[in-house]
Amino acid sequence: EAKRRGKGMWVTYTDEMGSRISAEAVLIRELDQAIEENQFVLVYQPIVRLADGEISGVEALIRWNHPERGLVSPIEFIPIAERTGQIVAIGRWALQESCRQAAAWRAASPDTVPLYVGVNVAGRQLRDPDLVTDVADALAAAGLPAGLLVIEVTETAVLDDEQSHATMEALRDLGVRLALDDFGTAASSLGLLLTCPVNSLKLDRSFVESINTVSRQAAVATAVSQMASALEFATVAEGIETVEQAELLQGLGYRYGQGYLYSRPVPPDGIVRLRSALALSVTGIEGGVLLES
Ligand code: C2E
Ligand code: MG
Ligand code: MG
Ligand code: MG
Repeated sequence: EAKRRGKGMWVTYTDEMGSRISAEAVLIRELDQAIEENQFVLVYQPIVRLADGEISGVEALIRWNHPERGLVSPIEFIPIAERTGQIVAIGRWALQESCRQAAAWRAASPDTVPLYVGVNVAGRQLRDPDLVTDVADALAAAGLPAGLLVIEVTETAVLDDEQSHATMEALRDLGVRLALDDFGTAASSLGLLLTCPVNSLKLDRSFVESINTVSRQAAVATAVSQMASALEFATVAEGIETVEQAELLQGLGYRYGQGYLYSRPVPPDGIVRLRSALALSVTGIEGGVLLES
């Protein structure tokens, strides 16, 4: 009996494993084609100053415009691309395109404070010694001042890795700013903050989600905010969906925020419309700045 069940389980296991492997093999091949044919697009989500809702920058978020499946979420392909190394080519494109777009926004409204653009960089990219050259080339090609580029890295990508630290130092030397993304989610050593040359911390959405109902989340958000201010890091709270969350986080000392309350990620012209709506509005969020998409 046990033997028969064991055997049955084994068969099921290999079947599942087989189909999972072939589905992944298809995805990897399709990703090669996507890189070749440039099937990626970037959408941008505003990062706002919590005090008045003013957009200070945007985060570039990639989508795969798949010929049959339509827009595919980065969650579905970035981890695989990171394992295969395809992220290097994809990431290079994302950097170039984000810099080009930020320079275009800047050129289109020379009388306003230019928006910065945040670009996510995976651990694999950070360990690639060519990243610094890629970033310098992207800035030069776009004519974008380095100070308008923020590279977002995650704690896990930079934890105890000397090559990554060296790359980050070199990026800082270019004048690029660095943000520690999804802060609080990894089993991070707080000592990382003393050695890692970042300018800002992005509090992960998981803490923001239940900040007004779970006191433990609020405690972490408070600690992160106090630590960030003591170490002179800017703070961005991710995933703000309600006015209550925004007010609470502002009270805890967060200066910047990002989330569906302000806007979902939108195409480039959506950012232009959001900005001009904001310029016309005197009452902030309630004044109709919210953009549905
Ligand atoms: P992330 O860098 O932490 O980006 C924030 C994610 O939270 C985005 O998901 C954004 O759409 C989502 N988000 C923002 N506000 C809210 C909110 O109020 N509520 C909820 N529920 N979600 C919110 P997205 O676009 O699906 O990206 C997922 C992750 O994929 C990113 O997390 C980032 O780690 C990765 N990613 C995206 N674009 C790139 C890229 O160009 N390169 C690399 N290496 N990774 C990327
Ligand atoms: Mg990010
Ligand atoms: Mg994040
Ligand atoms: Mg996140």
